[in-house]
Amino acid sequence: MKPDVLIVGAGIIGAACADALSARGLRVAVVERDAVGSGATAAGMGHLVAMDDNAAELALSSHSLELWRELVDGQPQRHEYSRCGTIWVAADDEELEAARAKAATMSAHGLQCDVIGAPDLYKLEPQLRPGLAGGLLVQGDGLVYPPKSARILLARAVARGATLIEGDVVALEEGGVRLADGSHLSAGQVVLAAGTRCLGLAPDLPLRPKKGHIMITDRYPGFIRHQLVELGYIKSAHASDGDSVAFNLQPRPTGQVLIGSSRQFDTTDLAAEPAMMARMLRRAVEYTPALAGLNILRCWTGLRAATPDGLPLIGPDLARRDVWLATGHEGLGITTSLATAELLAAQMAGGQAGIDARPYLPGRFGERGRAYG
Ligand SMILES: Cc1cc2nc3c(=O)[nH]c(=O)nc-3n(C[C@H](O)[C@H](O)[C@H](O)COP(=O)(O)OP(=O)(O)OC[C@H]3O[C@@H](n4cnc5c(N)ncnc54)[C@H](O)[C@@H]3O)c2cc1C
Repeated sequence: MKPDVLIVGAGIIGAACADALSARGLRVAVVERDAVGSGATAAGMGHLVAMDDNAAELALSSHSLELWRELVDGQPQRHEYSRCGTIWVAADDEELEAARAKAATMSAHGLQCDVIGAPDLYKLEPQLRPGLAGGLLVQGDGLVYPPKSARILLARAVARGATLIEGDVVALEEGGVRLADGSHLSAGQVVLAAGTRCLGLAPDLPLRPKKGHIMITDRYPGFIRHQLVELGYIKSAHASDGDSVAFNLQPRPTGQVLIGSSRQFDTTDLAAEPAMMARMLRRAVEYTPALAGLNILRCWTGLRAATPDGLPLIGPDLARRDVWLATGHEGLGITTSLATAELLAAQMAGGQAGIDARPYLPGRFGERGRAYG
C-alpha cells in the first residue's frame, strides 16, 4: 500500500522522523541506500549538548535534550547514554567572562549550570593543564552512541508498521521518488532526510558540506569524566570559511576517549588527513598533556550539512510540491534530532510541538529553484 510519507535517509534524523510520524498514525516508509545510521550519524561524537549561540538554537537543543532524557529513561545502556555533563573550559579571564555570559543565558532558559573557578575545575578534571581560569559546568548534557539510537528509533517505527526499503533515491518525481534501478516509489509526501546528500536530489538547497575528523583512543577509564570543550570552540564551529580545530574530548562509557574536532569547507573527500589529525592532537595535548601518552586506535571523518545561518531546515520545501525537509543540522543533529522530528510531525500530521517551528522553516531562505528532477 502507498505510504503516506516516504523518508529518504535512515540517519538519526530520518529514523527520529519515522518514529514521530508513525506514532501519529501515518503510514511511513524509509528508503536507505546503505546501513541504518551509517552516514554523518555514525561519524558524530554523540554529544547531547545545549548550544546557545542564538535563541532558536538554544530552544531547539534544550527541548531536544528533554526529549532525549525521556527516550533513554529506564534504558540508558541501550543507547550507551551517559549524563556526563559538559565543561566549557575557560583558558583565561576573558573566556571566564564569556562563561559567565553563557551561564546567564542558559540559567535564564532553566538549564542547570555553574561557573567554576580553577580549583573546582582541577578537582573535576585533574588531567587539564595548569594555568586555566575555570569553566562552565552544564549538568544536563550527555552522550549517546548515535547509530544505535538511530536503529532503536527506526525499530520503534517498524513495530508500528513502518517499512525500511533498501534503495538509492536518484530523483524526486511527481508523487514519489525514482530509485537507481529505475523503479518509482509512490508516496503521499516525501521527506528529505539524507544529510549532505540532499544536495544530489535538490541542488538548490542552502546546504554546504563541512567535513569533520574524530579520533578514538584505547580504554583509559576515568581519564576524563565530562565532555570537555574549549570556549573558543564556538568561534571555530561558526566560522564560515577556512579550516579550524578546537579542543573537544569525550569520555565514552567504554573508557575510551573521543578526540574532536575539526571543520573544513568545500571538500567531500572522506579520506582522513594526517595534517588535520596532527593539528587536532596538538590542540588536545595543549589542554590535556597526558593525552600524548595514550594509544589512538582509529580516526574517521564525516560530513556535516551546514546552512548559512547555522539552523536546520525543518518544514515544507517551498520549491517542490509534497516535499518536506529535515536536514541542515550541521554539528548538532544528534542532539536536535528528536525535537526536529517532533516539529516536522506536528507540521505534517497536526498537533502540538514543544517549541515554535518558525525559526527553522526552510521558507526563511525564500523559494529557491523550482522543478522536479
Ligand atoms: C565529525 C562529526 C562530529 C559530530 N558530532 C556531533 C555531536 O557530538 N553531537 C551532535 O549533536 N551532532 C554531531 N554531529 C552532527 C551529526 O552527526 C549530524 O548532524 C547528524 O548525524 C545528521 O543526521 P542525518 O540523519 O541528517 O544525516 P546522515 O546521518 O548523513 O543520514 C543520512 C542518511 O541518508 C542516506 N542517504 C543519503 N542519500 C540517499 C539516497 N539518495 N537514497 C537513499 N538513502 C540516502 C545515507 O546513507 C544516510 O544513512 C557531528 C558530525 C560530524 C561529521
